[in-house]
Amino acid sequence: MSENILIAIAWPYANAEIHVGNITGSHLPGDIVARYHRLKGDDVLMVSGTDSHGTPVTIAADKEGKPVEEVYKKYHNGFIDLFRQLGIQFDLFTTTHTENHFKVSQSMFLALQKNGFLFTQKSQQWYSPAAKRFLPDRYVEGTCYICGDTRARSDQCDNCGNVLEPEKLLNPKSKVDGSTPELRETEHFFIDFSKLEPQVLNFLRERTGYMRETVLGESLRKIEAEGLKPRPITRDLDWGIPVPVEGWDDKRIYVWFEAVIGYLSAAVEWAKISGQPEIWKNWWVNPSAKAFYFIGKDNIFFHTALWPAELMGAGGQFLRIFSEEDGDLTLPYDVPANQFMNLEGQKISGSRNWAVWGRDALTRYDPDALRYYLTVNMPENHDSDWDWKEFVAKNNGELVATWGNLANRVLSFSYKHWDGFVPSIDPAALRPADLDLLAGIDAGFKTVGDLLDAVKLRAALQEAFRLASTVNQYLDQMAPWQAVKTNKDGAALTIYTALKAIDSLKIIFAPFLPFTCEKLNGFFGCKTPLFGEPYTETVKDSLGEHTVLRYKASASGAVGQWKPSELKPGAKLEQPAALFKKLEDSLIEEERARLGQ
Ligand SMILES: [Zn+2]
Repeated sequence: MSENILIAIAWPYANAEIHVGNITGSHLPGDIVARYHRLKGDDVLMVSGTDSHGTPVTIAADKEGKPVEEVYKKYHNGFIDLFRQLGIQFDLFTTTHTENHFKVSQSMFLALQKNGFLFTQKSQQWYSPAAKRFLPDRYVEGTCYICGDTRARSDQCDNCGNVLEPEKLLNPKSKVDGSTPELRETEHFFIDFSKLEPQVLNFLRERTGYMRETVLGESLRKIEAEGLKPRPITRDLDWGIPVPVEGWDDKRIYVWFEAVIGYLSAAVEWAKISGQPEIWKNWWVNPSAKAFYFIGKDNIFFHTALWPAELMGAGGQFLRIFSEEDGDLTLPYDVPANQFMNLEGQKISGSRNWAVWGRDALTRYDPDALRYYLTVNMPENHDSDWDWKEFVAKNNGELVATWGNLANRVLSFSYKHWDGFVPSIDPAALRPADLDLLAGIDAGFKTVGDLLDAVKLRAALQEAFRLASTVNQYLDQMAPWQAVKTNKDGAALTIYTALKAIDSLKIIFAPFLPFTCEKLNGFFGCKTPLFGEPYTETVKDSLGEHTVLRYKASASGAVGQWKPSELKPGAKLEQPAALFKKLEDSLIEEERARLGQ
């Protein structure tokens, strides 16, 4: 039976390009799981978008001397370009700066208010008389009152690592114009998470059987030790979502509160522009839908504690306010957060250019070569390291040697010796060794599938490679390259068997290596692609217009299916070609020389 699978992927901030650490942390694992479920015939909805609000974006705009809208759109369009090139197939990749997201976020705010989870509180905040506005914490720098370092941010000191109480900062200076700010009273809305703590603990305890230990450590055990505390959900800014309460015109909804709501609002927007405005409820108002959240470890608490608390706190009230209907919203099923990827033994740092940037890497390497290395090296349970020497070694020694050469060698051999066709054999004549090989490959749909269901992607890809190795061993034993001269009928059985195994492996590898598997699908003479196509569209609303990345199933409607090959003897093949490129050792030093420049 097909399931409704929501794939929710972290929203990138519109203040920097995406690097390999971001990709392996959230976008790629989400895409692999989405593609697997699409092949299985499940109803997949994969959404995300650009986090366009918040101070990192306004700081980037101030730095570049450009309007915030222009800056967020520049990064947003860059993200879309990267995802298309890397094959990250979103049903909708949108932005938080849309009329729809404003409405959904404000409805969530009002639902929580109506249910009694919001309160207001006055506090002191830095105000710039020169700029005539309150300054966000990140905008104020000065001397740390704990360690004396002079480069502390008002909310955090990188020197001693302490979270600071902003109003205690010494010698405060505005980061914008260097002027001296003063403390003024301001008032904000808070969400009282302490009231929702029992529900959040239950939510997490129900998931301890399958959630990653690293995730439970940052959520369940953290709450058990420290409890859930109220947090402000508004701030003194003019860029962002207006607070839907009279007299609060000069404040905006805090970005941490509204960005997570994007998973819900993106589904609503997708349904609307798809012409079926109610269909988002199949994922969001459906207790049997499964929602997977793909994020990096720095976001675990927001997605496992605060976001479920927002959803449970709003409860049925959200839908009553949003569309005058009843129903609870779907809670996260799993949050398989990844740890961090380092680079050549050091933390990735955009500002020092100690990074491998996604779009830049794609100018020199094929997308599947990158996807492959980012999957075998995915930081699922501990931090991992991108190492250029290992990148070349694994590309040449595993991807090319074990899988690429296998597919190319067998297809080319068949194409040459059977004149462009699959050998026309009688399936009843298959020998025990042939049947054993195919039974082993068929079983792979279950073993690899179970690992993908459990979001153990490294192990799933490893298992796929083990299956490919069994085909190589079988060919070593059967030696069709010699047999074709002395016993062409026997060689035909071997080549048919190997082709059928490769035709199955094409599906098993497809979630990980979609571009080359699609090519391989063409070499087998299939006219129907395995997956649909990405495309972009411009959406207009009262805030202007924004570009969205979308996905459409293939024109013929049919796509690849997660099941063993039904390759027919005598089927027509297309001229095959190599799937992957061997990489030169010289690029290791070239790439290392780019780092930190
Ligand atoms: Zn300090």
